[in-house]
Amino acid sequence: MTLRQPDHYDIAILGGGLAGLSTLYHLERAGKLVGKRVVLVDPEGKKTAHDRSWSFWEAEPGPFEELVHHQWPLVTVHDGTRNLDCDISPYIYKLIRSTEFYAHVNKVIDQIEGLERLDARAEEVRAEGNTVRFKVNGEEMEADLAFSSLPLHLRPRQISAPYLDQHFRGWFIETKEDTFDPGRAALMDFRTPQHGEPRFFYVMPFSKRSALIEIAIFSNNHLETAEYDRLIETYIYDHWTKGGYEVTHAEDGNIPMTTYPFPLRDRNLIYIGMRGGATRPSTGYTFYALQRQLTDLADQFPNLDNLAPWPRKHLLYDATLLRILQNGELPGDELFVDMFAANPPARVLAFLNGETSFGQELKFMSTTKVSLFARRFIGELYKTLRTSS
Ligand SMILES: Cc1cc2nc3c(=O)[nH]c(=O)nc-3n(C[C@H](O)[C@H](O)[C@H](O)COP(=O)(O)OP(=O)(O)OC[C@H]3O[C@@H](n4cnc5c(N)ncnc54)[C@H](O)[C@@H]3O)c2cc1C
Repeated sequence: MTLRQPDHYDIAILGGGLAGLSTLYHLERAGKLVGKRVVLVDPEGKKTAHDRSWSFWEAEPGPFEELVHHQWPLVTVHDGTRNLDCDISPYIYKLIRSTEFYAHVNKVIDQIEGLERLDARAEEVRAEGNTVRFKVNGEEMEADLAFSSLPLHLRPRQISAPYLDQHFRGWFIETKEDTFDPGRAALMDFRTPQHGEPRFFYVMPFSKRSALIEIAIFSNNHLETAEYDRLIETYIYDHWTKGGYEVTHAEDGNIPMTTYPFPLRDRNLIYIGMRGGATRPSTGYTFYALQRQLTDLADQFPNLDNLAPWPRKHLLYDATLLRILQNGELPGDELFVDMFAANPPARVLAFLNGETSFGQELKFMSTTKVSLFARRFIGELYKTLRTSS
C-alpha cells in the first residue's frame, strides 16, 4: 500500500479575514513571498461584503490611506452633563469599509504566483516538530509555517482574566435634512440609560445627511436585535433628528475584550488577529495595532522574534480598567469621560493606542480615581506575577 503524500506548502494562512489577508498583503508588499508555495484557507472564500467598518486613529498616513472612506480631525465625548469637543491633533480618526479593503487587498494578493485559495475549513490544526499540520475537507496538509486567525471561543466564566464582551449594532442612515457635521465624530456618547453597564454610541457622519450610528455595550449580557434597534431609534430621536430618515445598512457584532494571555505562537504555528491578542482589551479596537504588528512582521520576516501586538505593560493597565468595569466599581461613563476631561485628547488616544511613555502613563493614571486604580493595578500585577512564575 502506498501512503499519499500530504500537500506541502511553505506558508499556510488559516483564516482569510482581516488578519489573514493583511498578513499576506504585507508579506507580498515586502517581497517576502517570491518563490513560495502559499495556501489561504477560509470557508467564506474571497470576501467582498460590507460586513464591517474599521475605525481607528493614527497620527501619520497608514498603509491603507487610499482606502479611508471618511476621516475626522475632531471628536466629541458626552455623558449626562458633559459635552467635550476634542481636537485630537496630531491624530485623525478614520474609517475604512470592508468592501474597499477586501477589493484592494485581494487585488494585491491575487498577484502572488504561488498562491492557492481553498474555500473550506481548516481543521485539526497542530504544530508538530518543524511542521504545521491541518486537515481540509478531510485531507491532510502541511506547511513549514502557518499563520492562524481561526477563532478561539473563550468562555468568560472559565478564565481568570477579566473579560467583557463589546456587543454592538449600528445603522447607516440617510436623513432628509442637514443633521450632522462631517468633520466631527462622536467617539463615546453615553447619553443613553446605562442599566449598570457601560453603554454608549459612536456617531460617524460621512456628510451632513448621512452617518453610521452605533450602540456599543460592554457587558456579558447580550440583547435581542430589536432592543438594540429601539435604543438606536430613541437616541437618534433625542439627539439628532425628529424628521425622517432611512436606514440603508445595518452592522452588528461582538468583540471579546479580555487580557486572557493569548499565546503568540506554538513553534511554527503563529497566531494572528483576535486569536493572537491583537484586540486592545480595554477598547476592542484592533485594526491599527494589527497593521502596526503585521507591517513590522513583514519587514523582519523570516525573523519572527517580535510578535507582541501590544506592549506588555498596557495589558496590565487594561486588566486594571477591565476589572474595575467588570466589578462595577466605577461607571463606564464616569471613567471614560473623566479621562478626556482631565487629559489632552491626544494623550488619551496615544495611551489607548499603546504609544505613551511611562511618564505620560503616570500623568494619565494620576487623573483617574488614583486610590482605586492603584489598588486594582497592584492586584492585577500580583496575579500576573503569580501566573508567570
Ligand atoms: C462588525 C465588526 C466591526 C468591527 N469594527 C472595528 C473597528 O471599527 N475598529 C477596530 O479596530 N476593530 C473593529 N472590529 C474588531 C476587529 O478589527 C475585527 O473583528 C477583525 O475582523 C478581526 O480580524 P481577524 O482576522 O482576527 O478575524 P476575522 O476578520 O473575523 O477573520 C477570521 C476568519 O477566519 C475564518 N474562519 C473561521 N473558522 C475557520 C476555519 N475553521 N478554517 C478556516 N477559516 C476559518 C472566518 O471565515 C474569517 O474569515 C470589528 C469587529 C466586528 C465583528
